[in-house]
Amino acid sequence: MTDVLTENASAQPATDSTATNGPSLSDFVTRAANGQAADGRRDLVGIPREELTELMAAMGESKFRVKQLWNWVYYRGVTDIEDMTNISKKLRDRLAQDFYVGRPVLTADQKSTDDTHKWLMKFHDGNEAETVYIPDRNEDRGAVCISSQVGCTLTCKFCHTGTQLLVRNLTPGEIVSQFMIARDSYGEWPTPSNGIRRLSNIVMMGMGEPLFNYENVRDALRIAMDGEGISISRRRVTLSTSGVVPEIVRCGEELGVGLAISLHAPEDDLRNEIMPINKKYPLKELMDACRHYPGMSNSRPITMEYVMLKGINDKPEHARALAKLVKGVHCKFNLIPFNKWPGSDYECTPTNDIKKFAQILLDNGYEAPIRWPRGRDILAACGQLKSESQRQRKSRVGGCAKPDAGNDGVVAAQ
Ligand code: SF4
Repeated sequence: MTDVLTENASAQPATDSTATNGPSLSDFVTRAANGQAADGRRDLVGIPREELTELMAAMGESKFRVKQLWNWVYYRGVTDIEDMTNISKKLRDRLAQDFYVGRPVLTADQKSTDDTHKWLMKFHDGNEAETVYIPDRNEDRGAVCISSQVGCTLTCKFCHTGTQLLVRNLTPGEIVSQFMIARDSYGEWPTPSNGIRRLSNIVMMGMGEPLFNYENVRDALRIAMDGEGISISRRRVTLSTSGVVPEIVRCGEELGVGLAISLHAPEDDLRNEIMPINKKYPLKELMDACRHYPGMSNSRPITMEYVMLKGINDKPEHARALAKLVKGVHCKFNLIPFNKWPGSDYECTPTNDIKKFAQILLDNGYEAPIRWPRGRDILAACGQLKSESQRQRKSRVGGCAKPDAGNDGVVAAQ
């Protein structure tokens, strides 16, 4: 376990056991729902820009004030209104009566021998979610894998998080603050302007189905992509879905981020069995939605995630059927060796068979890199997060982060 908090203590969130300048655990557990403190103050993190403009207008403040606040919170990463020194003391005091700048509490902070980094974050109501940073193997950048829900309503058979019931959706503030905590940990404030960033990508592939919490995910990603703050380019954001068809095109139109589909089977009967959501949105509808996904192009293909399950979905005929299925979709595949977890009946396909599977896809014109899991020693790889959480702290939630960064810094997902 690596305590990176000590390296950048000035703007760090508190942990259960580590005293820092940030808010304490007790500060947070007393906060009420939706980013509101028990004293009625509201968390600035997560308020959409338009709403913040309205809130400032109601206080008689101009759009310029919104720019200033945005700059302090999302460009400089300050966690105390008092530190916003280009705002008059009088106004800071007034702002502090109604607002605060929040962070979840870090309850675990672990670094793998392969530099994968995992944080467990506790929110105001005691619920927890995991966030994982997966550095690129070859370059000084990497992807932050973010959770959208505590638990999940879906029950994908290969996924450990699927064994946990949905507790609740995360708010926009709780979603974007996962990335902000990662930045705190790496001291990546203010937002680097020279293009060199360790935390270069966002992947919505953590716990939960992001399109079942679409509005909150959208608001959080808009904040993260705003050029005057965190400023992550939409080309560096990928949202992964199990196939919530009605929201897919909307997501493309409103956000224009990269899309990843948890596919895992080339035909309905098999997909119904391992991903029950397929009964509601079968493959034909899913592929139609992909074909119409705004922003899909040769230079920005959709990623088809495919977990390799021995004897289930890994035969050569499955690979050939996949190539047929995705006709007309600009896509590539990520082949993900299955990570066994306690209680799962599945086994991982042998490596040689995965390579043969990849070759068939390649012969049919589709890239199909094999994404070896990362962070195994800290159980940050596919489907392992929940088991760790349960083992270490019985009441804690886990995650379904699927961390495996490829050369493009994009995480492969189950
Ligand atoms: S793979 Fe994703 S959608 Fe399926 S159960 Fe796991 S977290 Fe939920």
